[in-house]
Amino acid sequence: MKIIRKETDHCEERKGSVKPTFLIIHYTETKNLTDAEDYFMGRKDHPEGGRVSAHYMIDQDGSIVQYVDEAKRAWHAGVSHWGGIDDINLHSIGIELVNPGRKYGYQPFPVQQMDALVRLCKDIMSRHIISPHRVLGHSDVAPTRKQDPGELFKWQTLAQAGIGVWPEPGEEDRRMASDYVRDKNSLKEAFLTVGFDPQADMNSMVVAFQRHFYPEAFTELDGKGRVNETMAARLHWLVRNRPNL
Ligand SMILES: [Zn+2]
Repeated sequence: MKIIRKETDHCEERKGSVKPTFLIIHYTETKNLTDAEDYFMGRKDHPEGGRVSAHYMIDQDGSIVQYVDEAKRAWHAGVSHWGGIDDINLHSIGIELVNPGRKYGYQPFPVQQMDALVRLCKDIMSRHIISPHRVLGHSDVAPTRKQDPGELFKWQTLAQAGIGVWPEPGEEDRRMASDYVRDKNSLKEAFLTVGFDPQADMNSMVVAFQRHFYPEAFTELDGKGRVNETMAARLHWLVRNRPNL
């Protein structure tokens, strides 16, 4: 696998020599790779302020660039949380996919880009112990602030390639689903069990969950933000299959 190396000083040591156990996927929300790279390399200021970076960026044609050594902490996740862990940057490897995003016209991720992502993830996971449940999107770990990589990202395809999880609800999950639809408290408890930030509001969690595990919500009439039984069954599958970390 060809990886172009470019070095940025937008990184630091991982405190306490923490080993990465999360893989976080983003989109750049830029017109092209160069515009995102300008932020990574400090050639331009990021619109949201602060210095940003990620370990890897994958262009739409599938070419891969590495900016930060995996042993170092890159600055991609910001204020974030999953499963009781607050500093996701410290515990993760970050991968950016070039995509215009919300700002410049969100579009599907090309096959070449997804193929390259699969190869890169497999390569990373051969070196680090990353649970499939910890292959996540930026919106999973920062649901109130972030939407990337968004509902057009094919998590199911990724899971079929052996990276991450995709729920396959059975009878038991469908039975539990109506509870979640009816009862906001059990719904919230399920989100927290899966790993979401207890500080996040309910609607942000629902929409973030949909972006990852129930993208159909975005093509259904008024589906966004609405909990139905199909979505809830997938949530319960995740609750049941959550690893003991
Ligand atoms: Zn992001």
